[in-house]
Amino acid sequence: MTGARRSVAIRGAGVVGLWQAQLLARAGHGVTIYERSATPFAEACSPYAGAMLAPRCEEESAEPIIHELGLRSIELWRQTYPGTIVNGSLVVAPPRDQTLLDRFARMTQGSQRLDRDAFAALEPDLAKRFSTALFYPDEGHLAPDATLDFMLRDVKRAGARLVLGEAEIPKGFDLIIDCRGLAAKDRLPTLRGVRGERIVVRARDVALARPVRLLHPRFPLYAVPWGDGLFMIGATVVESEETGPVTLRSALELLSAAYALDPAFAEAEIVKLGAGARPAFPDNRPRIIAAKGYIYVNGLYRHGFLLAPALAELVVTYVATGKTHPEVFIADPTQR
Ligand SMILES: Cc1cc2nc3c(=O)[nH]c(=O)nc-3n(C[C@H](O)[C@H](O)[C@H](O)COP(=O)(O)OP(=O)(O)OC[C@H]3O[C@@H](n4cnc5c(N)ncnc54)[C@H](O)[C@@H]3O)c2cc1C
Repeated sequence: MTGARRSVAIRGAGVVGLWQAQLLARAGHGVTIYERSATPFAEACSPYAGAMLAPRCEEESAEPIIHELGLRSIELWRQTYPGTIVNGSLVVAPPRDQTLLDRFARMTQGSQRLDRDAFAALEPDLAKRFSTALFYPDEGHLAPDATLDFMLRDVKRAGARLVLGEAEIPKGFDLIIDCRGLAAKDRLPTLRGVRGERIVVRARDVALARPVRLLHPRFPLYAVPWGDGLFMIGATVVESEETGPVTLRSALELLSAAYALDPAFAEAEIVKLGAGARPAFPDNRPRIIAAKGYIYVNGLYRHGFLLAPALAELVVTYVATGKTHPEVFIADPTQR
């Protein structure tokens, strides 16, 4: 598999497939992306994402590998997409739940504990209701719709060809990279979907410059500012592959928690509600499964935007040199 220019077919144009296409095309390979849906992202999980680039906050519940690859991905996003915002992120908790904040700080690296003045300098409205916060200065975020549209144009600029409405790959490619997300369950039986519900609101009176997580024993939530007054309020984590409408209970919980975070959300317009199914392996870690001429990149769970660039870089290295990352690669042809 090492060496010269290859003809590469990518299956699936979600955030994972687009990054694979982007870096392989830039490395000089001949890349064609085959996307099943006729309209880009119509059947993808990717548009449902936050899309926080939060390798440090995610450490609270994820393995160190997510942190390592996530930090590298932020560099790659910054080099590639001018809309990448790195303003840091904040974590707050109601006064009675300060132990949650202490625990969160212990479980993660790189936080700064802000006093009220330092907090007010960053987010004046929020600092009126919360006396302290954890600040992770090197985390980032994106507005997913604009980002995915940019990536779609940018893969073409990099020289990749995009074929929409096509689920089958013609014969003759040197290498196929399978980035079908949850649809790859037909070949990867341990893959599962984890439902995530989210609500997008337009709240002109809410002024947040960075993602904020509210720790709460029952209703944890985050709000991500996407620009132009839009905020993503998310997200549930439910062991189910159902997508489609948000339940009344989830909507109530998410919106009540948003109101608790900032009462100015009360006047927000609800723009859209929906749920995606995150593709995940049993341990919620991503995998690159490399068999002869066929590579799966899947299981990015809550971290598709956070990890897609770094995983694409690992695949480019593998194609060029045969080198693998021991924590991410699985070379088991029987998995196909
Ligand atoms: C509510 C929610 C919030 C999230 N927040 C974040 C976040 O803040 N940060 C973060 O990093 N991640 C977040 N995620 C996770 C992220 O969205 C996923 O990890 C990511 O979208 C997975 O991308 P993917 O490309 O693997 O899959 P998908 O986006 O599902 O793309 C797969 C593509 O393959 C196509 N396809 C399927 N079958 C075929 C076939 N036979 N041939 C060709 N094409 C095919 C599909 O149509 C689809 O376009 C969130 C997810 C949810 C649901």
